[in-house]
Amino acid sequence: MTNNKDKTLGETLRSQGISRRSFLKYCAATASMMALSPAMIPKIAHALESARRPSVIWLSFQECTGCTESLTRAHTATIESLIFDAISLDYHHTLQAASGHAAEEAREAAMKENFGKYLLVVDGSIPMDNPGYSTIAGISNYDMLMESAKGAAAIIAVGTCATYGGIPHANPNPTGAVSVGDLIKDKPIINVPGCPPIPVVITGVLTHFLTFGTIPELDHIGRPKVFYGQSIHDRCYRRPFYDKGLFAETFDDEGAKKGWCLYKLGCKGPTTYNACATTKWNDGTSWPIEAGHPCLGCSEPDFWDGGGFYKSLSMPTENIAQTAVYAAAGAVAAGVALGAMNKSKKNSAAKAHNKTTIDDLEK
Ligand code: SF4
Ligand code: SF4
Repeated sequence: MTNNKDKTLGETLRSQGISRRSFLKYCAATASMMALSPAMIPKIAHALESARRPSVIWLSFQECTGCTESLTRAHTATIESLIFDAISLDYHHTLQAASGHAAEEAREAAMKENFGKYLLVVDGSIPMDNPGYSTIAGISNYDMLMESAKGAAAIIAVGTCATYGGIPHANPNPTGAVSVGDLIKDKPIINVPGCPPIPVVITGVLTHFLTFGTIPELDHIGRPKVFYGQSIHDRCYRRPFYDKGLFAETFDDEGAKKGWCLYKLGCKGPTTYNACATTKWNDGTSWPIEAGHPCLGCSEPDFWDGGGFYKSLSMPTENIAQTAVYAAAGAVAAGVALGAMNKSKKNSAAKAHNKTTIDDLEK
């Protein structure tokens, strides 16, 4: 009998009752999210199906558990959450059944057995001013991170606290909180910021690692470009109102009721890079701007100290419709509209192609 731990990811998904068609749809959606050609769907499917469950050690330091909650609290058993379940999570402070000495022994055993191959996932920042601020099993966060990083193939820093220090790092930073990247310089680190990060982005990074055995291309602050390559503003459905100079001035005025741009209410979408506008939250139900709230910029460094959540950025917006800015904005809008039309055509073509690919693969 196959031990649970020895099952491939494909076997695990099948034993969970996931149909091949649903699985292929997940692969197609992931390929599209990563801007890969539909020709990559079979490669992703094959790589995921045959992957032996990689060992993952997940450490949680100064954090609120929101990052873990984000990933595990999907209200239905999505393939994303099952793929997460299918990794061999050898150590996770919140999710592991073991406690005390048994938990620490599990971490040591996983590091020894999988030296050089395991993935280290970290959420939370690391307090440097006084190691006693945060310890686990009597080990300081700093010591546990350095010890666990030694044999890791790569490190995924999940959430804004692990990637840039986050809220613990905010002024006056009483614990001397720093990020994983501030301390580790000799390992590949993938930053997946967000407060919390989007679940499909976390599993997308895992999928990329399982499929290609490498980390995705990163931007200048270590974020995967496929998910963080465009700003919220670039992809916001309220963008046409911004381009026309139509802004909500208060949360209950006519503009707010008509769904106008939230820029003047403090929206940080123009300077924030994340995938919320396309992936949305809660299984694609909605996202903050769709719910009427400005983007807070949670996936950017120092977002908490950025000058006020409800204070607008200083970009030209006054009389936008009457000025030369409008001409430029109009050109952008036309470009965006054209881009959207082209994208929509491309998306329809890609969807049709993906459907054909899925039908072919299913045969
Ligand atoms: S400022 Fe905010 S609400 Fe307005 S278009 Fe940009 S992202 Fe959307
Ligand atoms: S809309 Fe902005 S603040 Fe809200 S989750 Fe997305 S990036 Fe973070």
